Amino acid sequence: MRAIIYTRVSADQAGNQRSVTEQEKECRAVCERNGWKVAQVLTDNDIGASRHSRKDRPAYNTLDAVLNPGDVLVTWEASRAQRDLRAYVDLRDLCAKRGVLWSYSGRTYDLTEGGDRFGTGLDALLAEREAEQIRERVLRAMKANKEAGRPHGRTPYGYKAERNDAGDLQSWVIRQDQADVIRGVVDRVLSGESMRSVCRDLDSRGVPTPGGRQEKPGGEEDRRGLWNSSTLRRLILNPTLAGKRVHAGKVVGDGTWAPIISEGTHYRLVALLTDESRLTHRGTRPASLLSGIALCGVCGARLASKRSRRESYYSCPVRHCVARTVRLVDPYVESVLIQWLEGVDVLTFAVEDDPDAQNAVQELAELRARLDEFADAAADGQMSPDALGKVEAKLNKKIAAVEERLSKRPVAAAVTDVAGPDAEKHWAGLEIERKRQVVHELMDVRIDPATSGPGVKPEAIRIVWRFAAKR
Ligand SMILES: [Zn+2]
Repeated sequence: MRAIIYTRVSADQAGNQRSVTEQEKECRAVCERNGWKVAQVLTDNDIGASRHSRKDRPAYNTLDAVLNPGDVLVTWEASRAQRDLRAYVDLRDLCAKRGVLWSYSGRTYDLTEGGDRFGTGLDALLAEREAEQIRERVLRAMKANKEAGRPHGRTPYGYKAERNDAGDLQSWVIRQDQADVIRGVVDRVLSGESMRSVCRDLDSRGVPTPGGRQEKPGGEEDRRGLWNSSTLRRLILNPTLAGKRVHAGKVVGDGTWAPIISEGTHYRLVALLTDESRLTHRGTRPASLLSGIALCGVCGARLASKRSRRESYYSCPVRHCVARTVRLVDPYVESVLIQWLEGVDVLTFAVEDDPDAQNAVQELAELRARLDEFADAAADGQMSPDALGKVEAKLNKKIAAVEERLSKRPVAAAVTDVAGPDAEKHWAGLEIERKRQVVHELMDVRIDPATSGPGVKPEAIRIVWRFAAKR
């Protein structure tokens, strides 16, 4: 018999999803057990098949053309084929008319037969209900996120408030004139112009300040309407401009309003302006992140950081192959590092080189699996809640002990204080020496000579991680 395999993975997370590769493997195993010859494998990936999905399923739509009398259609489970009763009925009728069998979840159905029509119909109903539940869950989560990211407080410079008839704040909309001022200022500050010079220019062009230029009754200008460095600094450092929601002085997530500058630009500003403020207040220059750590991409020498009249740059002390501006290189390397740290699980970090740690990870997985089994047994009524509580306490103690053992490994300790979802926040709180240590421990950085033109040129900064991190 000729078998057509259909696999599908949807974008919505259904909990026990299998990848298309796994689905295909299992379907092929079914075919082999039954002695069916796999004629074709059709795959729709990352596409929701519920009736709310607006996308087509190209592979699914070709089934009509592909299925021949005497074939068997193999799917991993009923919901892999369709999550819509109408689609089920179409498929059922097609299979029945063509004389095609349908196999899923280890059973094969003949759709001309009453009992099989009932059984598959019931599965289709259940699949549709599951799709509805997933959809509701996703909508609820989206709504909650949206609530959390809604604008609040004073309307920032660059935006205007949009309110409904009742006067409630609905959203912040970009004010084009002010957004242009911001982008212009940011460009000039990032290219090295001083805040004072930018302020003078804004005033000379008569650009109103956030407070607005007020005119006295006599038509005379109010001096309070002039720009000054600290207002401007505060203004362009506001994460709100990058579309970030700030709570109690900290970025807590994405806002629902459109950003005026990119997130990357925001962090470049933070790096540049906080660096500058240290310079003026302390008089001592903090060491650069990568001096003595990054290597020359041409000759392999360790780069030194030097200072010209205007700014610091990394330079190859041996043959002068490379000279790259610190304020462009550092924020880039930091952003790559932070992104990496955000994805690292401290407990399973770099266990590859450490057999003890590998055992501990294995042990941890087993303990957690046992805990799940007991919880399942209790849920099925095979165990009293009381007994579960005792077992749980015992297992949790063991789990905590293994977790502690894993987190105490020197290699994990290197990242314990920075890794995880809050990496960005932790990183910002580190002293420069600790930052340098983290970079040194985690990455090899090679810097090539910059090609012409301004900007970061990420392709000329080669980063190799020292550890393979489990994600
Ligand atoms: Zn060199």
